[in-house]
Amino acid sequence: MKIKGTCRRCGREFFVEQVLENGGLCPWDGKPFQVDYAAVLVDALRDAEVAGNTLENALEIVADVEPEFVLDEHSVLDEIRGHLERLERTYGRQRA
Ligand SMILES: [Zn+2]
Repeated sequence: MKIKGTCRRCGREFFVEQVLENGGLCPWDGKPFQVDYAAVLVDALRDAEVAGNTLENALEIVADVEPEFVLDEHSVLDEIRGHLERLERTYGRQRA
């Protein structure tokens, strides 16, 4: 999973992969995305990428074997979407 983000400071887009490589810095302005919790942030971003890949691969296999069921999209995506929306709302609030 190639997770993409946008820096709140410089407004440029980046891949999470780039942030993992440089230890939590914006690849464009070189400043940390989180000063106090840099290690927590980097660990969580790494987990999100790895877990995202695992989820994608697992669901691909499920779809490939054409089982006699469908999966509820909301049960897979809603909580994830909720966290992303919370991040988005925080983004709007801090910019205002
Ligand atoms: Zn930046």
